[in-house]
Amino acid sequence: MTAASGIVGEFMSLKGETDADLLAMQCGDFYEFFGDDAETVADELDLKVSQKSSHGSSYPMAGVPVDDLTPYLKSLVERGYRVAVADQYETDDGHAREVDRVVSPGTVLDPDDAAARYLAAVVVDGGEYVTRSDGDDTGDEDGPAYGLAFADVTTGQFRAGRVPDAATATAAIHRFDPVELLPGPHTRVEDPVVEAVTEETDTTVTVHGTDAFQPGRARHRVDDQFGDEATTAVGLESDAAVTAAGAVLAYVDDTGVGVTESMTRLGPLDADDRVTLDTTTRRNLELVETMQGERSGTLLSTVDHTETAAGSRLLREWLTAPTQDRTEIARRLDAVEALAEAPLARDRLRDLLSGAADLERLAARATSGSAGPRDLVAAREALGLLPELAAAVADTPLANGPVADALAAPDQSAARALYEELDDALVADPPGSPGEGVIARGYDAELDEIVADYEETRGWLDDLAEREADRHDLAHVTVDRNKTDGYYVQVGKSAADGVPEHYREIKTLKNSKRFVTDELEEREREVLRLEEAREEVESRLFAAVRDRVAADAELLQDVGRTLAEVDTLAALAAHAADNDWVRPELADDRTLDVRAGRHPVVERTTDFVPNDLRMGPAVASRSDASAHDAPLREFLIVTGPNMSGKSTYMRQCALIVLLAQAGSFVPAAAATVPVVDGVYTRVGALDELAQGRSTFMVEMQELSNILHSATEDSLVILDEVGRGTATYDGISIAWAATEYLHNEVRAKTLFATHYHELTSLADHLPRVHNVHVAAEERDGEVTFLRRVRDGPTDRSYGVHVADLAGVPEPVVDRADEVLGRLREEEAIEARGGDGGGDGEPTQAVFDLSAGEFVGATDANGGQAGGDGKRAGAGGARGGGRGDGAATGRVPSDGAVVDSEAAAILEELTETDVTETPPVELVQRVQEWQRELDDGE
Ligand code: ADP
Repeated sequence: MTAASGIVGEFMSLKGETDADLLAMQCGDFYEFFGDDAETVADELDLKVSQKSSHGSSYPMAGVPVDDLTPYLKSLVERGYRVAVADQYETDDGHAREVDRVVSPGTVLDPDDAAARYLAAVVVDGGEYVTRSDGDDTGDEDGPAYGLAFADVTTGQFRAGRVPDAATATAAIHRFDPVELLPGPHTRVEDPVVEAVTEETDTTVTVHGTDAFQPGRARHRVDDQFGDEATTAVGLESDAAVTAAGAVLAYVDDTGVGVTESMTRLGPLDADDRVTLDTTTRRNLELVETMQGERSGTLLSTVDHTETAAGSRLLREWLTAPTQDRTEIARRLDAVEALAEAPLARDRLRDLLSGAADLERLAARATSGSAGPRDLVAAREALGLLPELAAAVADTPLANGPVADALAAPDQSAARALYEELDDALVADPPGSPGEGVIARGYDAELDEIVADYEETRGWLDDLAEREADRHDLAHVTVDRNKTDGYYVQVGKSAADGVPEHYREIKTLKNSKRFVTDELEEREREVLRLEEAREEVESRLFAAVRDRVAADAELLQDVGRTLAEVDTLAALAAHAADNDWVRPELADDRTLDVRAGRHPVVERTTDFVPNDLRMGPAVASRSDASAHDAPLREFLIVTGPNMSGKSTYMRQCALIVLLAQAGSFVPAAAATVPVVDGVYTRVGALDELAQGRSTFMVEMQELSNILHSATEDSLVILDEVGRGTATYDGISIAWAATEYLHNEVRAKTLFATHYHELTSLADHLPRVHNVHVAAEERDGEVTFLRRVRDGPTDRSYGVHVADLAGVPEPVVDRADEVLGRLREEEAIEARGGDGGGDGEPTQAVFDLSAGEFVGATDANGGQAGGDGKRAGAGGARGGGRGDGAATGRVPSDGAVVDSEAAAILEELTETDVTETPPVELVQRVQEWQRELDDGE
């Protein structure tokens, strides 16, 4: 009982000393968790909870064996927990425990996968961050600047910098995709960057001690780490950036992981040269993870033929953060092209690289002191690859090209020197730990002498049995050693009586007896002494070798990066060669011209129908450009039946642009691509209700982000906008977003929509064009042609898809009938809006020159009645297909609403969507719909 209370009490007090989420406390052969921690750990890891009683109360307890702690820790950290570990020490009067490390997502040294794992800090520039007191100034665009730092403890990568505003800070965080973020003291409440990270990513946000963010202290820590000149050298004058960097270093120090030495270089953020890709876009385009969270079926898994973990990591970096730097893109493309054209040399390089060690990670392990003999041997082998790879390209088409240049980049003589030192110091195939023959002979005279003596004595012992048998004419003699008896001579029972006098019997077994002699005991002492000496000297020598490697961490990182780069380039070349990909050309203007483009992932599993994509100036000037009078195609409205291939087409376009800027060939017959500054997507209706966010809200947040962030040089992919709400709302938003993107943002945009009405915008907005994915209907059957053609589709075939899917015939027939009716009604309203006339149904069209809707101005009275009625009908149909969707009740200045509707409008305006829980929002909307229906 007393012991129990002592342990639980000690646990609670140690827990109080750390800001970690969980504490694992060593109790003999187990690490134990108590109280709430035990419950949490048991739930997460499926452990059994037992009860520990203490002072009449009982506490939940869960434990893991000491040897199994590491995998359990990793699992907890993967789930976002920070776990403090308190080890048990022997003391004179029993034992003591103290927390000596904290394992957190950003400080796990040996994660299971090769991807980079950034630990980040974000600091508001200019000291105090004035938190917004109310929601009114959410549009404030002159918010503070930010300092950011990103460190990957597993590889020693370290980057820091200042960005001008919250949006750029968020974009940088999306790019590095840190596993853990440390917000500075002024970013902890209501900061838009931290909020975005919390809401949109899985990043663990760790509130760490304020001291670490104290600017003077942080600067000192940074200078200490990288040298006084480093901050100036990378233009890191901003206090906020230095503070962020210092805070990251302090945190790494505090967690006790011991790797700060591998952080040898302070690099800039490079935020400007990277293509902005937010988390949503990375997921929508399935770059490294599918929408379902799987790794296979992604762009990365499709092109990742790398031979090494470091290569795979680099390829992931290139794909998730493509560059805008034309020189760098050209450099990579040159190398991929050379490698694609030299299959033999390429295969040879990939053979050599196969299984090469991850030098960047080894550098971190060497500095933390956790690298073992086999790690250092792996490092030596990887270093030795450099000249081998250079030799492999020497007499091939790759000589004197970009690949040879890449291989020549690291300091060759330093690499050779380190290789040779390791070669001299270590045996080829060492055991796992020093002491048993890790250090090579000839490396250290003292060790050699010990080993020579040891082997001499061992030789004497090895021959002893034979010598004794001969000398004393004994049968069945063996010499062996075990823990209790030490060395002994064992003689078979029949011969045991004939042993000489000086044999001392120590044990009788069933068929034999064991003896020792004075000489044997002396040799035994000698062996033990030599073994101890050997272990001591070897460990000392090995630690020195490891320190030597740690001192060269920067060199290892350089060579590691080079090997990774060659591996990545060769993998891209192999994929290009095997799949008929072509080298993309970088357009000097805004031309995006893809001939016979394919989707890089879908083409692997499908008989893929290639399609062209033509946008921008060069396309307009060509005679085969579509016969519109408008000069440019910058905004394509993509229509076509459900399942015809609209999403695939738009995604393939985005992926081709991204691949090109990653430095890869692309799946097309020919491609000219512009250099874009960002790709923004909003795709389908993801069911995020499970996360407590209503789908429509998410959709609008994504749209809002795009409209705020995209620029003229961005590529925007919209796959349905407005479907999460009633038809009239939806079409209005889609319509207005199109205008805004076209008129204000002017980004290259592909917009797939089922709002057929939007296709008429092409007649009025100069850069908007229609394309459609063709399908054929014959005898009631729809055939998908997968061909993208100019012009809008005539209808959406939704009912036919229902038919194909086996929806019962009466329902299909009835749907057809309803569709007809809806079309009819649309015609009526369209005519009404037009002020009468009975010709073709006309769409209400936004007239750019007039700045309002044609048809809404001259017939107010008739329009108003129609509006109210149709809004009700739209609400009742919810998110129904757009086939029959009548021309929207598009808000316009001239619209007249009745008092009921006005009241609802007012309520709507006053509703703070960010503050209202989704369920309540839905209820309110339903209420309004009901009121509108009643008021009809
Ligand atoms: P939509 O967005 O129009 O509903 P999707 O793009 O999702 O249609 O495509 C539907 C299916 O058609 C996908 O499963 C895809 O594999 C296939 N598909 C799309 N485009 C092509 C193509 N060009 N060639 C072959 N199959 C295609």
